[in-house]
Amino acid sequence: MSDYNVIVIGGGPAGYVAAIRCAQLGMKTVCIDKWINPEGKSSLGGTCLNVGCIPSKALLDSSHHYTFMQKHAAEHGIQCDNLSIDIAAMQARKADVVKALTQGIGVLFKKNKVTSITGTARLIGNKQVQVTNQDGSQQSLTGDNIIIATGSVAAQIPVAATDNQFIVDSTGALAFDSVPKRLGIIGAGAIGLELGSVWNRLGSQVTILEALPDFLSVVDRKIATLAQRELKKQGLNIQLSASVTAASVNNNEVSVTYKDKTGEQQIVVDKLIVAVGRKPNTTDLGAAEIGIQINQRGFIEVDEHCQTAIPGIYAIGDVIGGAMLAHKGSEEGIMVAERIAGQKSEMSYDTIPWVIYTWPEIAWVGKTEAQLKAEGIKYKVGQFPFAASGRARAHGDTNGMVRMIADAETDRLLGVHIFGISASELIAEAVVAMEFESSSEDLARTIHAHPTLSEAVHEAALGVDGRMIHA
Ligand code: FAD
Ligand code: AMP
Repeated sequence: MSDYNVIVIGGGPAGYVAAIRCAQLGMKTVCIDKWINPEGKSSLGGTCLNVGCIPSKALLDSSHHYTFMQKHAAEHGIQCDNLSIDIAAMQARKADVVKALTQGIGVLFKKNKVTSITGTARLIGNKQVQVTNQDGSQQSLTGDNIIIATGSVAAQIPVAATDNQFIVDSTGALAFDSVPKRLGIIGAGAIGLELGSVWNRLGSQVTILEALPDFLSVVDRKIATLAQRELKKQGLNIQLSASVTAASVNNNEVSVTYKDKTGEQQIVVDKLIVAVGRKPNTTDLGAAEIGIQINQRGFIEVDEHCQTAIPGIYAIGDVIGGAMLAHKGSEEGIMVAERIAGQKSEMSYDTIPWVIYTWPEIAWVGKTEAQLKAEGIKYKVGQFPFAASGRARAHGDTNGMVRMIADAETDRLLGVHIFGISASELIAEAVVAMEFESSSEDLARTIHAHPTLSEAVHEAALGVDGRMIHA
């Protein structure tokens, strides 16, 4: 008999959620995670809670409040003279947010009777895992099923090797103890734009170098254009077709060389953030050794139900690629737990929401016009600007729009793209609608409270059929 019904390797949003769901379904479950925080203590939650989604949003919120006080409070009649920012206090608040949430997972594990082990796990045979504990001692565990959720780490590029002082990855950029005067960022993806926004709001002159010619190439073109214009207005200097070829540190400054359409260019910055994506974390896992397939890009190969080539061994979250998002991993965790328990759960990969937490936010679900054109699908678009939303105007944030795309013949919703205040929350309605295979007419006939930002989604649905009321 095995020690556990399920061994989960990794306690990030994929692994901890899988472990809790397994335990809820009556399985004897252990979750092994190796994360040690700067205080030397184990800290569940993986990248997301420790150095990803949560700390970045804490800093985005703090820096947004600062910008509001600086630039917009006066419009509301609020005077705030002698405004200043205490970076140490801002970072301490971020640490408190992280601490509360990471410790919360320990509480959830106890409540659900998940055994939690701090240590590094290695697959040493079919259904057998060796754990190296913090003190170096080892133990071997057997499980009927194993779920690999080892996540990802920041990708590195040889032309800009991180030194954790002047050239840093996202983790380093979340921990700056002062505002860099000149900040360079390689990569204009979600992480580059969010971290660039934080430090730009706090006073850095930010230059973002992006190798690709299009800004946010996967995003709806109109939404990307609006976002690019707004971020430029906020002070982000985003250089496209700018491929970084070298970076070196001299006299406490970083010289960054890049090639653009006109030739070789150079900028000098005080800090450089490398935000060129994330790579799967299978280091020392022993996966390939036991026969698990790993593809050329390093991701573990799985079938549509996240099972590896070995029956009973599953992989979920960033380590299998696809949308490298916390909620994607969590849902895969739930599906796998339920399938192990004999249920027929499936993942809805087509309705995963994406969010970039700039101000305002960019959020989308489903297909873009470019994708639909490439697939030869005929569609209709409804588009409503937040400038015509009473709630957005009362709030003082009228930037952006909701764009809704529906099939020209069946009216089924194919995609919703938002740039605007609270886009991260508004997109949920579109996700539910698409999950229920709704038409734009379904949303157009749904009553939305007034005055709310969600009325913009309603109006965009009306717009698909050319019958918007307020624009
Ligand atoms: P991870 O969160 O990486 O967790 C894996 C865990 O496994 C880690 O604790 C690791 O230490 C542990 N582990 C690895 N190997 C072993 C081993 N051999 N033994 C034991 N333990 C092991 N996503 C969003 O959806 N929204 C956001 O707003 C967002 N913002 C982000 C901001 C930043 C700055 C970054 C870096 C990422 C952000 N992401 C965001 C991405 C998100 O963090 C990841 O998609 C998510 O954390 C992946 O979850 P996971 O469980 O697959 O892996
Ligand atoms: P993401 O994967 O969404 O986090 O985005 C990372 C971005 O970094 C991508 O848009 C890449 O095109 C960009 N990138 C990767 N390498 C370089 C480089 N050497 N110079 C500039 N941009 C880069």
